[in-house]
Amino acid sequence: MNNRIKYCVANLKMNLFGDDVKNYMLDLDKLFDKSINKKLKTIIFPSIPSLKDFHINIKNDNYLLGTQNIHHKEYGSFTGEVSIKMISQLIEYVLIGHSERRQYFFESNELINKKICNVINHKLKPILCIGESLDERKNNNTEEILNKQLTVALNNINENLIIAYEPIWAIGTGETASSEIVKETHSLIRSILNDIGFDGEKISILYGGSVNRNNAKELIALNDVDGFLIGGASLDVKHFYDIYNFIEESN
Ligand code: 13P
Repeated sequence: MNNRIKYCVANLKMNLFGDDVKNYMLDLDKLFDKSINKKLKTIIFPSIPSLKDFHINIKNDNYLLGTQNIHHKEYGSFTGEVSIKMISQLIEYVLIGHSERRQYFFESNELINKKICNVINHKLKPILCIGESLDERKNNNTEEILNKQLTVALNNINENLIIAYEPIWAIGTGETASSEIVKETHSLIRSILNDIGFDGEKISILYGGSVNRNNAKELIALNDVDGFLIGGASLDVKHFYDIYNFIEESN
């Protein structure tokens, strides 16, 4: 047993807008009643245009809000981008370095480092996503990749943050990493964090990648797993709630 904060996090990706938002929150509120455990943080990451609707429709402090992305600068000629200043009053958390941003929007570890600095400067909390591809795992490069992702992204960062380990091959594929892989990799991540000057024991490390209500119980039982970053299953409030309950029971 450890004292790290546990998290149940919904990454809604490019889904839910307009009336969907109200209905999602109404359905969630029916399940998450007043007895919600505040020590376990439930965070919702909507798309940026839906952030305000979520903010309006969240009627209690059961849930916290975050953004899936942010530009690394505050102002400027960056067509189509969003500055942290524009939404900081709506959110507490920022997802940084999700593999879909690395893969489709070519975000480098250096850029991710700048984004983390920006988030911390605005007194918000970053959740840094890291993870290897299938080829990298098959070629025994997982340690090297994670080491580089952490070392470069956290250069000159002293504040404790949250890490989400999301192996790329497990995201949206229905193929969850086995308990053995998750256990071994989370412990590896903690030791890399120690090596680069953090107190790894204090940092919450979430697992993401095809988490669902059938595998959540087994994964959350692992000592180094401090919660989940949930994609597809978070779009169904009943599934999300079941996963939440497994984290809560393990607390
Ligand atoms: P899935 O749960 O749909 O695999 O997505 C995981 C993810 O990318 C969360 O950030």
